[in-house]
Amino acid sequence: MHELSLAERVLRIAEQAAQQAGAQRVTRVRLAVGALAHVAPDTLQFCCELAARGTPLEHTEFTVEQTPGAAWCEPCGQTVALQRVGQACPHCGGYALRITGGEDMQVLDIAVI
Ligand SMILES: [Zn+2]
Repeated sequence: MHELSLAERVLRIAEQAAQQAGAQRVTRVRLAVGALAHVAPDTLQFCCELAARGTPLEHTEFTVEQTPGAAWCEPCGQTVALQRVGQACPHCGGYALRITGGEDMQVLDIAVI
């Protein structure tokens, strides 16, 4: 499952951040996934909780936000927002789009104590 491998990556990033900060515990990890990333925020959150079980991150709160996708529309000559893959340009209805954002996952912040 794609989300589970992402979740494991998130846990490693959080563990490293906690170590570097000399923290006791990671209390919260805030993530953002792009609308075009083929990752469901709910599923990613669940997978993080699942992957954290039995680890020092067991009681960490995970939140996942979704950020809109973005693409460059050649006919419009501008960047447009996309909510999903395969969507037409909201301005001209065309498909001459080059995806420029919203395909990735980001760790927004990691709270430690
Ligand atoms: Zn357009």
